[in-house]
Amino acid sequence: MVTKGIIDKLYEKNYLNEEEMLYLLDNIDEENKEYLRVKALNVRTKYYGKKVYLRGLIEFTNYCKNNCMYCGIRFSNKNAIRYRLNAEEILSTCRKGYELGFRTFVLQGGEDPYFSDDIIIDIISKIKNYFPSCAVTLSIGEKSYDSYKRYFDAGADRYLLRHETASKKLYESLHPNMSFENRIKCLNNLKKIGYQVGAGFMIGLPNQTNEDFVKDLMFLKELEPQMVGIGPFIPHKDTPLSDKKAGDLNTTLILLSIIRLLLPKVLLPSTTALGTINPKGRELGLLAGANVVMPNLSPIEVREKYSLYDGKICTGEEAAECLICLKNRIESVGFEVDMGRGDNIDWERKS
Ligand code: SAH
Repeated sequence: MVTKGIIDKLYEKNYLNEEEMLYLLDNIDEENKEYLRVKALNVRTKYYGKKVYLRGLIEFTNYCKNNCMYCGIRFSNKNAIRYRLNAEEILSTCRKGYELGFRTFVLQGGEDPYFSDDIIIDIISKIKNYFPSCAVTLSIGEKSYDSYKRYFDAGADRYLLRHETASKKLYESLHPNMSFENRIKCLNNLKKIGYQVGAGFMIGLPNQTNEDFVKDLMFLKELEPQMVGIGPFIPHKDTPLSDKKAGDLNTTLILLSIIRLLLPKVLLPSTTALGTINPKGRELGLLAGANVVMPNLSPIEVREKYSLYDGKICTGEEAAECLICLKNRIESVGFEVDMGRGDNIDWERKS
């Protein structure tokens, strides 16, 4: 009964305090989990109907100067086969995506110093010039305010930078030579500049507790990002966390539903990592309140190499095949694909 009351409060007020949030996470059972899920689905349907937005993900470099303990493309992984796409290859990937109907391109990569601001700006300008109806999302890590501003002025619309975990201690144990404060500062800068911003975290990191998730949820509520990306941690064989357990489906689904209720209009992907830990993971994510899917558009030759974690799905199919498969999956659980830009419904670009 208490748990149900907390879910009702979350639904009505889009808010819980830390104690209530922790209580919910500690005590939720199967019945309340379903109650929460239905409320979350209700809210997503109220704002976004049955629409699922698709984003074309272009993984354009797997070089990285960082050493995140969980990540397969970390600097110290000497087994990673490194690659970069040049501007021309990125543009031809966009063209292919455009022809398939995609209107958002997400450029994601490691923090690769080869891509100077000038190169990034050149790529953004070209994409916006050739495909003015498309949104460009960047996911290239921590940069200065000025760099973020220059990308924005060149036409970038959105920026994904997961905070990874809002527990400073856990963050620092996972990110050698990086600072939690800087990660948060980057997110604030991105918001200030006027991007649609995506934060988010991993689920099931070694030593992560429900208290840590409470911090993540409180942080998200305070930041109010337009997008939130969450997914299970999955070990990669060539990292220091290779022998750790992956995050679980159940916790991820509960957190997706809570996030939908905390930030009712948020763009919330059902991630590839979720589809990797369970064959129906992405469908279940949509049913728990997610409203975005990000299929891989990267050229097939490089897909295996962008290996953040083991077992990643969809590395062997052409983009067109992926799209058909995804459409079927999305429709199989009663949703419909929307190939539009899919901006956050509260958002308007200023300048
Ligand atoms: N360099 C960019 C992009 C990082 S890759 C940045 O710093 O934002 C995109 C996301 O993949 C990361 O933010 C992280 O949350 C996720 N990721 C990395 N390794 C992972 C793993 N082993 N399991 C699950 N997710 C992982």
